[in-house]
Amino acid sequence: MMAHMSDCLFCRIASGELPSTIVAESELALAFRDAAPQAPVHVLVVPRAHVTSAHTVRDADAHLIGELVLLAQRVAVIEGIDAEDRGYRLVMNVGADANMSVPHLHLHVLGGRKLGWPPG
Ligand code: AMP
Repeated sequence: MMAHMSDCLFCRIASGELPSTIVAESELALAFRDAAPQAPVHVLVVPRAHVTSAHTVRDADAHLIGELVLLAQRVAVIEGIDAEDRGYRLVMNVGADANMSVPHLHLHVLGGRKLGWPPG
């Protein structure tokens, strides 16, 4: 885990250097609206510290995965999609085949409509 990478988009958003629409935050993570939403609710949850992807998470930063999920739960409550008859999808893209475009660990929170499965 690296503290901050000045050339990383989500590091710059997490530090406040670049603007975002923040939905929720904790000491270790930040949740903000995706700039190109794929659903009525589309929020990205990222660790403040730089981790490249789910595939590079190591023992020392494994707790951040739990942190992202806990913050995603709060996002779901704030956005009103947490009821059992609603629900949401959590997605972590890894690498080119999954169309990962920003190499800073992030959890997509998608919801607000019936989501198709399997994804394209
Ligand atoms: P991924 O394709 O999994 O790497 O997801 C990256 C996401 O970041 C995409 O859904 C983009 O729409 C989103 N994104 C890119 N730049 C920004 C930005 N400046 N603010 C908010 N979301 C962004």
